[in-house]
Amino acid sequence: MRPFAYERAVSAEDALNRHTDDTQYLGGGTNLVDLMRLGVATPARLVDVARLPYDRIEHRADGGLVIGAAVRNSDLAADLGVRDDHPLLAQAVLAGASGQIRNQATVGGNLLQRTRCPYFQDVTKPCNKREPGTGCPAVHGDNENMAILDHSPHCVATHPSDMAVALTALDARVRVRHPGGEDVVPLARLYRSPGDDPSRDTTLRPGDLITAVEVPARLDMPARYRKVRERASFAFALVSAAVALDVADGTVRDCRIALGGVAHRPWRAHRAEDALRGRPATEASYRAAAEVELAAAEPLSGNAYKVTLAVNVITAALAGLGEDA
Ligand SMILES: Cc1cc2nc3c(=O)[nH]c(=O)nc-3n(C[C@H](O)[C@H](O)[C@H](O)COP(=O)(O)OP(=O)(O)OC[C@H]3O[C@@H](n4cnc5c(N)ncnc54)[C@H](O)[C@@H]3O)c2cc1C
Ligand code: SF4
Repeated sequence: MRPFAYERAVSAEDALNRHTDDTQYLGGGTNLVDLMRLGVATPARLVDVARLPYDRIEHRADGGLVIGAAVRNSDLAADLGVRDDHPLLAQAVLAGASGQIRNQATVGGNLLQRTRCPYFQDVTKPCNKREPGTGCPAVHGDNENMAILDHSPHCVATHPSDMAVALTALDARVRVRHPGGEDVVPLARLYRSPGDDPSRDTTLRPGDLITAVEVPARLDMPARYRKVRERASFAFALVSAAVALDVADGTVRDCRIALGGVAHRPWRAHRAEDALRGRPATEASYRAAAEVELAAAEPLSGNAYKVTLAVNVITAALAGLGEDA
């Protein structure tokens, strides 16, 4: 591992002031330190932001939340208000990683964790995300776990965060501090498609500091997170779905559907949502809506199974809610 300096920021301003071109912020370190050990990340300086005063969850009367970026994943999932008002979010956090990792991982770090693409993590292999212009061996190589939607010839990686999928379904926004002030960025605008520059996962600029995540008022409809993975103890999603469904007189009034494990970003399934509103609340409608979304899929040589899986996961998750409603 390359030698590095460690510094602890005492305020957001202090963190911003300490940031230089070869600095990275340190949350719980459960992703960044792994990448440093592998030689994928080589910062000369770490600025610890996990002890900044952003370790609280603020609850609003309408169920809205302001979740500090330094809140640990375990504390978020265990918070009674979160469990009552946003069970979808608590379920997604609990579906990620292991208890030990969740105890250490922060909300800010979870949202900015890097892809688990095996080529990205292996510095002996080319990878456009790690080293722009070197190529993407996953396009024709080991791509079982890669994207089926919105990928590019330059990168077919998926975003690994479960929490981000739930927050995408909930229309969450992140508060971002930078030298010019603060921006509030919808999650839909935080994450990027790979396009011809997969080196950037997000629209953040170097040195931007996430201080909090805002979650709007509680959804007035049942919601659920469903994740399919290779083993139950801990594993990243092959496909996951965050869904919510509002049914009245047997008809779908409103719904939310977001997917994980299918794209470079948490994927909001707007086409499926539009197809489902106003339709009978039946399994046939859920499947038809899921098929509308997945019609845009462009599976790679090894991951056509994800198209069927995604349709099945959406259908099963919504059908489960239909029974609850
Ligand atoms: C064995 C294993 C299994 C896992 N399984 C899952 C899983 O199933 N689902 C899942 O979602 N995750 C999973 N994870 C990933 C885990 O959730 C992440 O490692 C963790 O959430 C990252 O949080 P952290 O605070 O440790 O981030 P760090 O490692 O500290 O940081 C990650 C990135 O975020 C940046 N950063 C951190 N905080 C801020 C901030 N406030 N502002 C700006 N930038 C910041 C860092 O510079 C770094 O680039 C797994 C990890 C492991 C090791
Ligand atoms: S899919 Fe993306 S992360 Fe993986 S090798 Fe290709 S460019 Fe790198």
